[in-house]
Amino acid sequence: MTTTETGSISIHTENIFPIIKKFLYSDHEIFLRELVSNAVDATRKLQYLSARGEMTGELGELKIKIEINAEEGTLSILDAGVGMTGEEVKKYINQIAFSGATEFLNKYEEKPEGGQLIGNFGLGFYSAFMVAQQVELTTRSWQPEAEAVQWKCDGSTEFSLAPAEKQARGTEVKLFLAEDAKEFLEGDRIRGILEKYCRFMPIEIEFEGKIINETHPLWMRKPAELTDADYISFYEKLYPYQEKPLFWIHLNVDYPFTLTGILYFPRFRPEIDPNRNRIHLYSRQVFITDAVKEVVPDFLMLLEGVLDSPDIPLNVSRSSLQGDPNVKKINAHITKKVADKLEEWFKEDRAGFEQKWEDLQLFVKYGMLSEEKFKERGQAFCLVENLEGKKFTLSEYREFVQANQTDKTEQVVWLYAGKPEQQDVYIQAARKRGYDVLKLGGLVDTHFTGLIERVLDKVRLTAVDAGSLDQLIEKDTPRISLLAENEEASIKKLFETCLQDFPGWQTETRALTSEEAPVLLTQSEFMRRMREMSASGQMTMMGALPESWQLVINTAHPSIQALARQLEGDHQNEEATQLTDLALLAAGKLQGERLSSFVNRSFDWIRKS
Ligand code: ADP
Ligand code: MG
Repeated sequence: MTTTETGSISIHTENIFPIIKKFLYSDHEIFLRELVSNAVDATRKLQYLSARGEMTGELGELKIKIEINAEEGTLSILDAGVGMTGEEVKKYINQIAFSGATEFLNKYEEKPEGGQLIGNFGLGFYSAFMVAQQVELTTRSWQPEAEAVQWKCDGSTEFSLAPAEKQARGTEVKLFLAEDAKEFLEGDRIRGILEKYCRFMPIEIEFEGKIINETHPLWMRKPAELTDADYISFYEKLYPYQEKPLFWIHLNVDYPFTLTGILYFPRFRPEIDPNRNRIHLYSRQVFITDAVKEVVPDFLMLLEGVLDSPDIPLNVSRSSLQGDPNVKKINAHITKKVADKLEEWFKEDRAGFEQKWEDLQLFVKYGMLSEEKFKERGQAFCLVENLEGKKFTLSEYREFVQANQTDKTEQVVWLYAGKPEQQDVYIQAARKRGYDVLKLGGLVDTHFTGLIERVLDKVRLTAVDAGSLDQLIEKDTPRISLLAENEEASIKKLFETCLQDFPGWQTETRALTSEEAPVLLTQSEFMRRMREMSASGQMTMMGALPESWQLVINTAHPSIQALARQLEGDHQNEEATQLTDLALLAAGKLQGERLSSFVNRSFDWIRKS
């Protein structure tokens, strides 16, 4: 070829039509959503024209009706909206992907009261052919001199258009259901679909003599007009039989995207599954999906409620949603709003906030762990709680322990207990030195400890049982061993034999103080965090790591000195075993047969003495 040719690619409708029919929507039931949406749009257009004075005369009853005729095998959607003239049918219905909604909005610069129209792709109507073998559309325009017309099509590219008998203004779409779509003749099935997709549509919808929708859902109303009771009763409507929510956020954005909605913070339930779908996504009051994973930040999947935005692209693949600029903006906005609300609550009513902290902490911590922006914001209201139940912000707590718990490298060491009930011996020892102990043993706390260390400079966290207190908060205080070098070696050997049941556990001799326990089990902070992460499935490559503890033998303790100076023999062994068992007991590790022999041995001793 020597010349450049240009032209337009041609599409043959007879080829593309079956594709639209089959693949436009994966879920066949949404044909009803599309047809009812069109009826809603037609009705709102009429209201708009009437409000502008373009249409005079009575609006009359504007209800949309859905009717099943089982004998005929048909399902009809009737409205009293603008209707269409024959010319309009040719233009809007015969041209696939020509949206009358878009055209209407372009024509009238100011938008109809109460928001926009639903349609915009110009494809919705054809979703009827996913379930119908034939569609009859009978319509009469609002325009006074208009005549009714009927359009018929059997799903091929041929249609007929003829004058019709229809007195009332509006449109009736009648679907002759295909063999494989007879389920849509069942009342329950239709009611289910209507309740799912049309529950909050803005025009009344009647089915089997009942109105199935609420035309002014709470999220579309002005926050200033609403009371707490309104929000709570709306919540109960959405999630019956659930406990009251902790609080809620009413979203209301116009620019640079449109977003309304109400997000509820539910009471914390341990069985919460972060992957469940509790947020319903709407577009102009039409239910779209409850799979909102891409739209809300991960941590907010714990929330419940409704989001309504026409700016979330719905007909694109889910994976590309994540990269969509509007979705990103919406995401960022929601995160910001949630942070604003929490911060405001914390500042205005700290006592109330603290009271709810138990329920809130999972959101806040998970949020700070998973969202960079929220991590920054969260520092203003994220709390830690000590074992006395006193709550502090992170910076308050650093301040609180700084004087007493700064080690020789200038790091402030925060001590915490994951299971205070089981760690009391360690906790009491720490308190004796005037140290404070935090309670940190929740679902995300293993990660949260790491987070605190990242956001606060020169702060380190360690469990109270991760070492002797001298090791946990190293200071330059000299400690003196009461044992000679050879005694240390033989006492270490002695205790090693007592730990034979625990392969891999270490013993070490170390001079603590005489105030502290003669023997003490400790578990390295690093190894414990690794193990917890592996257990929570974060590091599956490694499999679950076994527990591994060290037995610290306190060579500054008179009991150890006495033990070392005893003659070798059974008695020495027995005492070392008893001491080891007590250390195991203090760490909550004395179990099974070893526990029974400890108990029996102790009884014997009491009897003998
Ligand atoms: P969209 O709603 O995205 O514009 P549809 O394929 O759903 O596309 O509908 C195409 C057009 O047909 C609509 O924009 C509207 O002009 C017209 N139409 C469809 N249903 C009705 C109806 N019930 N009453 C009046 N006009 C309708
Ligand atoms: Mg439509």
